[in-house]
Amino acid sequence: MSDCLFCKIINKEIPSTAVYEDDKVYAFKDINPAAPVHILIVPKKHIANVNEINETNSDCLIDIHIAAQKIAKQLGIAEKGFRLINNCGSDGGQTIFHLHYHILGGKDLGPGLL
Ligand code: 5GP
Ligand code: ZN
Repeated sequence: MSDCLFCKIINKEIPSTAVYEDDKVYAFKDINPAAPVHILIVPKKHIANVNEINETNSDCLIDIHIAAQKIAKQLGIAEKGFRLINNCGSDGGQTIFHLHYHILGGKDLGPGLL
């Protein structure tokens, strides 16, 4: 998608601070961190959000979870724990319409959802 911010980040047309990359996913630091560790994981293939997941493209969800596990270990937050968040659509707080999961950690985030 030529007008998608995260596609441009994946294609290195817009700079980002990479923390993990393989042939399926890219992960980079959030520009406006909400916790000491705040990473975004995106599939390299453009998918707008969870509403567009189907039987053909759902492998990306496993790829994202495996990447999240590797990144958490790499950044030293696996053992104490972290939160993996997806926002879907406008009521869900999604602002960039390329599927992404937030990894938040590096402090006690508490039990709250909001
Ligand atoms: P959403 O609200 O869609 O779930 O999350 C979008 C996230 O993308 C936000 O946490 C925001 O800070 C982050 N973000 C927006 N623009 C950029 C950018 O240009 N670079 C990076 N690294 N993160 C961005
Ligand atoms: Zn995109």
